[in-house]
Amino acid sequence: MDWDVVGQRSETVRRANLSAIVRELHLRGPLSRSELVARTGLTRSAIRVLLGELVAADLVSEDRRAHLGTPGRPSPLVHANPTTAVVLALDIAVDSCAVALVGFGGEVLALQRVDRPRGHLSVADTIADLVQLAGPVLAPTRGSDALIAVGISVAGIIRRPDGLVRMAPNLGWRDVALANQLGGALGVQVPISVANEADLGALAELRRGSAVGLDDVLYLSGEVGVGGGLIVGGRPLTGAAGYGGEVGHFPIRPDGAPCHCGSVGCWETEIGERALLRQAGYDQGGGRDQVDALLADAATGSPSALAALAAVGRWLGIGLAGLVNILNPQIVVLGGLFHRIHPFVAATIETELDRLALEASRALVRIVPSMLAEDAPLLGAAEMAFDALLSDPAGYLGRFEPLAAAGGV
Ligand SMILES: [Zn+2]
Repeated sequence: MDWDVVGQRSETVRRANLSAIVRELHLRGPLSRSELVARTGLTRSAIRVLLGELVAADLVSEDRRAHLGTPGRPSPLVHANPTTAVVLALDIAVDSCAVALVGFGGEVLALQRVDRPRGHLSVADTIADLVQLAGPVLAPTRGSDALIAVGISVAGIIRRPDGLVRMAPNLGWRDVALANQLGGALGVQVPISVANEADLGALAELRRGSAVGLDDVLYLSGEVGVGGGLIVGGRPLTGAAGYGGEVGHFPIRPDGAPCHCGSVGCWETEIGERALLRQAGYDQGGGRDQVDALLADAATGSPSALAALAAVGRWLGIGLAGLVNILNPQIVVLGGLFHRIHPFVAATIETELDRLALEASRALVRIVPSMLAEDAPLLGAAEMAFDALLSDPAGYLGRFEPLAAAGGV
């Protein structure tokens, strides 16, 4: 018997089991030991030993208080300690920037969003805005090891392995090494990952929003641009380099309008913010304020506003019918602009799906507004930043031990 090999195997099993427990506590909230046994398939004694390690590292606590109104012996709950391990999330949208500090277990400890002027904002200006926003949010973590990672959401096409922003047409960016520049400006020395806003919106809805417990999800987000985040069989569909899921640039109308991406007649040119505002007779570059005005007019029965919403709803339904036929999703989650216009377009979308989608797939799919609304990409960036901890918490335990040993100072 090669005892080194046995030792390595048992270490691999230990790490995988710690990961299973940490993932459950992060995603599902407080659980009793019995629930952990049921959810992870581990034995009660294995759970006891592993929880001992996690408690010693101050990553989790066991709450021995009885549940009010519960008869019988109280069952202690194991819960994530939100301030032991935290991540910083950043969202770079076309109309706004946001930062959040999110604790292990998903608690949002701080969140700040500021509107920004529409236009092509330089990378340097954006970084300066984010550093200013993040300063007070990061302050409580300075001098401790609590900050474990930074996640950034960008409304653009991102090369996943290194986070290079290949193209962000509505920000006017091309080939920006954002992670390096932001890390230096923020003065943090933790891993920084960057991803597309719709991919992260999908991740957030899957873990914390409308799509919890589902495996086949299409998240559609709209602002100036239109993006898609696709979850297939429980996994994100990214394509070879991470550029996949760009449903907004599906060529749906070859004789249509020019698109920001350089092509013509992309889906975005029929369902995006500019198309909506143009058809209703508003300033198509007017951004969020003009959309608010349009929705207010629609609510009072303005025929031109309602007609524009009906046209966008029809093209939304046409495109979604194609995507439903290809992907057979359980749910389509409408985020961003589509979340805001949902009450006005829901019926039209359903009508177009009835008319155009394959009956078997159509019968299974639900179309819902995003539960996390405009914060979905930001919260998805936080979830992405937690992935390394969830996959291998053992690598982090030593890091937190000095804090626990210091008696929580
Ligand atoms: Zn396009």
